[in-house]
Amino acid sequence: ESKSRLKGGITGFEHEMDGRYIEQQKLKADLREAVAANALHLMFQPMFKADGTRIECAEALARWVHPEKGSIPPDVFIRLAEEMGIISQITRFVLFKACEECMNWPDHIAVSVNLSARDLRDADILSVVSDALAHSGLEASRLHLEITESSLIDEPAVVRAILAELRSRDITIAIDDFGTGFSSLSYLDTLPLDIVKIDRSFVRNIVEDTRRLKLLRGTVHLARELGLKIVVEGVETHEQLVLLNKYRSTDLIQGYVFSPPVPSKEIGILSQALNRRTAPRRRSKVA
Ligand code: C2E
Ligand code: MG
Ligand code: MG
Ligand code: MG
Repeated sequence: ESKSRLKGGITGFEHEMDGRYIEQQKLKADLREAVAANALHLMFQPMFKADGTRIECAEALARWVHPEKGSIPPDVFIRLAEEMGIISQITRFVLFKACEECMNWPDHIAVSVNLSARDLRDADILSVVSDALAHSGLEASRLHLEITESSLIDEPAVVRAILAELRSRDITIAIDDFGTGFSSLSYLDTLPLDIVKIDRSFVRNIVEDTRRLKLLRGTVHLARELGLKIVVEGVETHEQLVLLNKYRSTDLIQGYVFSPPVPSKEIGILSQALNRRTAPRRRSKVA
């Protein structure tokens, strides 16, 4: 009897494995189809000057709404796309769309696009970026590209050369999620970079835990000494915002405290609302 139960158990387990495997294959097939049909869309999360008076940039964030399963998180489908070898198609789509949308925003607002580690393994990315700029008419100085530290593991020399080339074309390079995973402060010194985006895990406990605040302030200080601009990500509360401003610990803030990711047309509307709030009153006379 115990033997048959054991056997049943294994069979059940195998069924479950099969089920999950089939599910995963189905999701991959659906993703392939969605990507081929350009069915992904973008949301944009603004990065504000730390005092909240101005939007300087907005990050393009890919979204996939599955016809049956609903919204699939980008952490999930980006990883799948990387495994499937179709991430470059997503990157191309996001770059083209993001540059196009940026053209509809006030001139001072840049757009930021995430690159996957795979994108930086070969120099094709250079022509994709130039095509996206040429197609939209966007100035290179309004395009930011975000890379993560994991991009640097495989082919550091190739990645370095690609980043240097992009930067020489006046594109801004940001290191994303800084301080997570396999983190090395020496990257900040040796890579061709302009911006450090401090990961939200650094911010989470700064109000309750002074040691976390010290760690954040120290990291920011170091990055600034190296001439880099700072974005703090994932700022959620007013208390966090007050602390960051008190110690002048960031140039830009990206987080729910100011805005979640929004549709492209909201970027212009938000920016106008800020202008109205901060514009001197005599402005109406001039007009
Ligand atoms: P990321 O590049 O670090 O993007 C920031 C993520 O943090 C976004 O999640 C954003 O919605 C979330 N976030 C922003 N403010 C807050 C906050 O105050 N609190 C909290 N808890 N979260 C906040 P999202 O959109 O789910 O994207 C997750 C990740 O997926 C991104 O992290 C990025 O690594 C990846 N991703 C998204 N779009 C693309 C893309 O087009 N290409 C590539 N390669 N990766 C992408
Ligand atoms: Mg990012
Ligand atoms: Mg990030
Ligand atoms: Mg992230």
